[in-house]
Amino acid sequence: MSSREEGGVTTPSGRRAREDAAPTGARISTEEARIQILKLLDVRLSGDATERWFKHMQLVVEDKNQVSVFVPTETHVLWIQENFLPELTHALSQVLGCGGRPRVLAMNGAAGGQLTLLEEPKRQSRASEAAAEALSKSLKSSGLNQLYTFDRFVVGGNNQFAHAACKAIAAGVRTAYNPLFIHGGSGLGKTHLMQAIGQDILKARPDAKVIYLTCEKFTNEFILAVQKGNLDNFRRRYRRANVLLVDDVQFLTGKEKSQEEFFHTFNTLLDGQAQVVLSSDRPASEIQTLEPRLVSRFECGLTVALQPPQLETRIAILRRKMEEWEVKIPDDWVRFIAQRIRSNVRRLEGALVRIATFNSLGQGELSTERIEDLLRDILREEAAAKVTIDTIQKTVADYYDIRLADMTSRRRPANIAFPRQVAMYLSRKLTGGSLVEIGEAFGGRDHGTVIHACKKVDQVMQTDDQVRQAVAALGDRLNR
Ligand code: ADP
Ligand code: MG
Repeated sequence: MSSREEGGVTTPSGRRAREDAAPTGARISTEEARIQILKLLDVRLSGDATERWFKHMQLVVEDKNQVSVFVPTETHVLWIQENFLPELTHALSQVLGCGGRPRVLAMNGAAGGQLTLLEEPKRQSRASEAAAEALSKSLKSSGLNQLYTFDRFVVGGNNQFAHAACKAIAAGVRTAYNPLFIHGGSGLGKTHLMQAIGQDILKARPDAKVIYLTCEKFTNEFILAVQKGNLDNFRRRYRRANVLLVDDVQFLTGKEKSQEEFFHTFNTLLDGQAQVVLSSDRPASEIQTLEPRLVSRFECGLTVALQPPQLETRIAILRRKMEEWEVKIPDDWVRFIAQRIRSNVRRLEGALVRIATFNSLGQGELSTERIEDLLRDILREEAAAKVTIDTIQKTVADYYDIRLADMTSRRRPANIAFPRQVAMYLSRKLTGGSLVEIGEAFGGRDHGTVIHACKKVDQVMQTDDQVRQAVAALGDRLNR
């Protein structure tokens, strides 16, 4: 197999392997280099880590000091960066003589969805091997990543409708869902669902022309085609598709010419009965400077929204990821992550990787403080995206029918003091703010007061059902 054709290792031309990696004077083949690196990693890593995290690795050597290592998903990236960067750097320097740290990238992102690898087919009959190979090829040329399947997608109230619509399209049901427009915040599964549609269709109809690409790639190719004067080729490629999946169309903001081209491609496809699926991080009508005719075109099929998952779904997602990655962390920690990270599944995965890494190093019990420390940057990102203390104060004041000013006042009758404590408790649970910040926001109280409030509410919740329900209801309301 030619590794270049297979998206394999690319070394700069004329590059020679280091002596400790290959016989003097021998030019190392790309696949050989990959295998040697895997072997070196295997010696240094414990258990089956090499198999699990590096098996699908692909290398692109840009120059002596810059190697890019492509791995299947962002989770692989995180895990490798957290755990194996020194070993990987060492192995690359041994085999390829590269200095410097490698860049670790997800195939389905930086590479524009083009570098896609399949899990190795199990030993099968010749015929099914050939079929698997054919499928692998068509998935790859369609820009699809085999890891994003419906099987691996956890369904909850937040995504049920979007999931059902995607399944219907994937099953080839002639739907009125054309185009299907999926919108929702970052990390909520838009790309995953689109890729799953593409894969199911290709599995059922290997001859279907399925194209997945990001809107950015579409735009870049369009500009290039204009520059090179081969717009016809460009048009033929996309307008021949049976299924066109265009990710992140909010990228069309401010790009008039691309919008125009997109509009025509789109009309051609819809007129020809091809299925179109689009995703965006916001509703079409909120994409700035998107031409009205495109907005109405985008919305003329079915529009579905992905919401952030509820707590139970977040826990189910974490459990599913633990199974997939074959890692285990205690239930308490799963719950902790799920409670604290609420707005983005990608971030949830990142936190799980961190904690599972810590756990796998056998460093023992984790206290809340230690977890917070480990997840500091992730929690900070999350805090920026989620409920503020302000919102909590308003919601709680509203719920208990007290004045907002009482959240910060010195007044202490129980009918005011307790709601205030509930608000502090929820601020602690939901905002990621420090004790000091929370105290500040409640009329300059000290952090001891916040600790006391949290303990008090915890205690009361254990004995008083009504309070427990009230706090749960408030949590839901704040969670949307
Ligand atoms: P988006 O395209 O909306 O930014 P992605 O589809 O890239 O989000 O999802 C981010 C990560 O979260 C991916 O690894 C994806 O597999 C995972 N993910 C998102 N939603 C779910 C879900 N419901 N079940 C399982 N994994 C999910
Ligand atoms: Mg995406």
